Amino acid sequence: MLSRKQTPSVASNQQCDTYAWFSQRAWVEIDLKALSHNVQQLVKYLSPRTQLMAVVKADAYGHGAVTVAQTALQSGASWLGVATVPEGIQLREAGIEAPILILGATHTPEQIHAIAHWKLQPTLCSPKQALIFSNVLEAINYGSPVPIHIKLDTGMSRLGTDWQQAAEFVQLVQRLPHLAIASIYSHLATADSLDPRVMQEQHRRFEEAIAQLKGMGIKIPCLHLANSAATLTDSALHYDIVRVGLAVYGLYPAAHLQTAIDLKPVLQLNARVTQVKTIAVGTGVSYGHQFIAPHELRLAVVGIGYADGVPRNLSQNMQVLIRGQRVPQIGTITMDQLMLDASAIPDLQEGEIVTLLGEQGKEQISANDWAERLNTISWEILCGFKHRLPRVAVM
Ligand SMILES: *Cc1c(COP(=O)(O)O)cnc(C)c1O
Repeated sequence: MLSRKQTPSVASNQQCDTYAWFSQRAWVEIDLKALSHNVQQLVKYLSPRTQLMAVVKADAYGHGAVTVAQTALQSGASWLGVATVPEGIQLREAGIEAPILILGATHTPEQIHAIAHWKLQPTLCSPKQALIFSNVLEAINYGSPVPIHIKLDTGMSRLGTDWQQAAEFVQLVQRLPHLAIASIYSHLATADSLDPRVMQEQHRRFEEAIAQLKGMGIKIPCLHLANSAATLTDSALHYDIVRVGLAVYGLYPAAHLQTAIDLKPVLQLNARVTQVKTIAVGTGVSYGHQFIAPHELRLAVVGIGYADGVPRNLSQNMQVLIRGQRVPQIGTITMDQLMLDASAIPDLQEGEIVTLLGEQGKEQISANDWAERLNTISWEILCGFKHRLPRVAVM
């Protein structure tokens, strides 16, 4: 399908000529219209008191952090979430001024200096970390207080102070110079599950911790708990901010959450046919000859492989789209190339576009489809595309 003919811009930080992608053998297409649609749908779905944080960690789940962040902010998101300090700096260097929360833990003086310098907002997970922050900021005699976010562990058993120690932790941070509590938050472990019980217990613990703080007269400026799944599950989990990753990229965290709002996948994975040939019955294909032609067939070679992020474990267990038709992949997927049985398209030409993930005509292959075949989750599929693939933004 050559339907998207708009002039593309290269949406990665690679120093690529705008038209370089025309010569590319394979690329990731980022549909900014779909991205904008998803963000608008989410904002519309939230009550006016709740702000949307677009989670753009891991290079925006492989979509290209700067372009995604800019588009999300233009479409109604007001916060950005990243995992690391360099991810935050990348956004600031691109001129983005929105508040940026670092969801991961930071400890070293270098990280803390960068947070202060670039006006990033760190997560504080323990009293020890809070003391380090305060000491480092004291040592450089940092002027205005740094907004920090208190992380409570309510049952994820990842980052955060145990929820039962929330009051002590908050009181300690309040006494420390150079730190200002901007929010208190927690993270849910099972929001995408059909069984709500663990999520409900985490919600109850979060509420109990907050009630205790309120009882002590502690003012809490802002609360947040929900990821994509929780956002689509229950508005009681929305609080002041929802931290949405996957849904911004147009994927549903679970099949049972598809009814809440209309989302469109943002990422499309394309490559080109690099050679077409006929092979005789009995001919072995690719490393290990895992495929032996059961009859004469039209073999197409495609310029994409596992070094681009097409998992080798999908070998002989995936299809691609060509001219709106499903075409089976055959033989082992190699580092830079894979093969197809393109017998259904006898006049297939070298240079034609193959869609590995995305839409052509009435057919669609989603990251969820790959995830199911690989016994993993769509998040991992999206984050798996390597930087050898240029990110091409289309409007
Ligand atoms: C990654 C992350 C999110 C976003 O999760 P999605 O399921 O992709 O919406 C939210 N909060 C935290 C703390 C995260 O690490």
